[in-house]
Amino acid sequence: MIPFNKPYIVGTEMLNIKEVINSHKLAGDYKYTKYCHKWLENHIGCCKVLLTHSCTAALEMAAILADINPGDEVIMPSYTFVSTANAFVLRGGVPVFVDIREDTLNINEQLIEAAITSHTKAIVPVHYAGVACEMDTILEIARRHKLLVIEDAAQGVGASYKGRALGSMGDLGTLSFHETKNISSGEGGALLVNKPSLVKRAEIIREKGTNRSQFVKGQVDKYTWLDIGSSYLPGEIVSAFLWAQLQEVQNITKKRIEIWNKYHNAFHKLAQDKKIKRPLIPNSSSHNAHMYYLLFKNIKQRMYFIESMKLKGVDCYFHYIPLHSSPGGCEYGRIHGDISNTNDLSDRLVRLPLWVGLDVDYVINQVLDVISTFKEDNF
Ligand SMILES: *Cc1c(COP(=O)(O)O)cnc(C)c1O
Repeated sequence: MIPFNKPYIVGTEMLNIKEVINSHKLAGDYKYTKYCHKWLENHIGCCKVLLTHSCTAALEMAAILADINPGDEVIMPSYTFVSTANAFVLRGGVPVFVDIREDTLNINEQLIEAAITSHTKAIVPVHYAGVACEMDTILEIARRHKLLVIEDAAQGVGASYKGRALGSMGDLGTLSFHETKNISSGEGGALLVNKPSLVKRAEIIREKGTNRSQFVKGQVDKYTWLDIGSSYLPGEIVSAFLWAQLQEVQNITKKRIEIWNKYHNAFHKLAQDKKIKRPLIPNSSSHNAHMYYLLFKNIKQRMYFIESMKLKGVDCYFHYIPLHSSPGGCEYGRIHGDISNTNDLSDRLVRLPLWVGLDVDYVINQVLDVISTFKEDNF
């Protein structure tokens, strides 16, 4: 069976981890965590990076930093991972779901302004598949309405919009290093703080609501409880693993792009014949080949494809169940306006395996084979 995902291992992770074990410094914010912070700050162009134990944790920190109070509204797509919404719901916030664009499956920036009310606090663009949202428009709307922008760049490590790294453009951004993402530490994430006035509070929230990080830097002579917070930092072993991976971002992205391009070229004719649709990368976006997907005609064709690929030994997945149609989304969020692209595209999308070392030619042949058995009247 060809798995859907296989996390890339650089090879130097264990050396770093051994060093941490021998140093007896196992909690957070030691050498490797600091290395990762500096590296990410330099490569992303962001004033403060704070590693977290997941992107979910970084989103929870962002919701606290945004001062989300009960009843405050946060505009986001429904076509996203649950944590994008859940982080705000934990603070009593209300996710307001607007529809996605048909071409990139990102939030439709043209629909955001009409969803703004006197309760709106923030906009959360999600850079789906590491392809950028239309950030110029989103940032301009946010500026006019004095809203915060929190970029969910979980899938966006190594990708950019008009030369700016994903996660570096909003007031806050979040990254994921979950094993399904391009760069991983098993579980892991980062909060990107782009607004200098939020840095101090971000450090306090991450350290259980205390000023421990100032104490460690020698800026205060004792540390104490100051604010709400939790324990959001990863242990040093996780950071040591991540440090090995960060050295390889360019190489991993390059290899993933090669696979992505092979898929894209191989399916050119199918797209021309209108049998399937392929992803679109706008000129403004330099993507990171986080994902390759195909869009079929309807849900029956999609499920037939997944089943047929499984019989040929290739694991393909679909996602997401739109949040507005999930029990949690119905209870805690609401939609604004027509959401038909979300409903339609989430039914028709299939993700193909994409990992460094994948036998992409084999997968392409199986895909072409299965699609050649499609008959118009079958579906
Ligand atoms: C993976 C993902 C997350 C959550 O990341 P974790 O590190 O697993 O918490 C959040 N949002 C999006 C869009 C994701 O793809």
